[in-house]
Amino acid sequence: MAIAGLLPKTARFKLESNPSLKNFIISFIFQDPLNALNPLMKIGSQIKEAIKTKSNSINKKQLVLDLLDKLEISDSTKRYKQYPYELSGGMRQRILIAMALARDPDILIADEPATSLDVRIKYQIIEMLKKICLESDKAIIYITHDLDSVKGFADYITIMYAGKIVEWGRAESIYHNPKHPYTKNLIKLSQQYKNQEGRLEYIKGQPPLPENFSEGCRFHPRCEVAIENCKLEDPKIKGTTEHWWKCPLND
Ligand code: SF4
Repeated sequence: MAIAGLLPKTARFKLESNPSLKNFIISFIFQDPLNALNPLMKIGSQIKEAIKTKSNSINKKQLVLDLLDKLEISDSTKRYKQYPYELSGGMRQRILIAMALARDPDILIADEPATSLDVRIKYQIIEMLKKICLESDKAIIYITHDLDSVKGFADYITIMYAGKIVEWGRAESIYHNPKHPYTKNLIKLSQQYKNQEGRLEYIKGQPPLPENFSEGCRFHPRCEVAIENCKLEDPKIKGTTEHWWKCPLND
């Protein structure tokens, strides 16, 4: 959100990119389509608003219908005139994807785009995003807690905890050789939802609030292998330019 300038000026991010990020068009796909879509506007009008070109209304309508067809939304002419509440959750999420694509972005940021959907629809949406990625030159930044859902999709993975990057690398390297304890937990939990007693597994404790961020490793209150020094010093980067992490206990 800060990257796209959607937050107050107090929200900052630091990114070195060449060419500058300002040269790219960025679109968002949000997590909850019912909140992201305007309930008082018909689907067609909402997608049309996002089209950048100065073409006339008839051409814009055709562009929208083409987009709906491309995203395998059945009966596009009927959907064009419907309101969000008349569509299923999966259909609404596709409409959000259509809105994001209508702008013809260079970068598509998908923030947990399939979390609120049932498993079958969730994988349909992920497959659709994979297809968009493969068939175009757009970059997709897919934000999720469910690492398993982006297996075979992501080229690179960035693991963040409490606002800081704790591990980064090529996806195969992260999946097969995770280094940071938080990453290891995320991978374990994405594959094994229940423990031997049939209870849902989770990482004990809570992420810290920003006002409680400590000097040392922010993961230390929840880390099973933490040592005394973890509370005091921000861990240094270890690894290579292809795969690095911030934890001194892993080589
Ligand atoms: S630096 Fe310490 S607390 Fe942080 S992840 Fe590594 S071992 Fe755990």
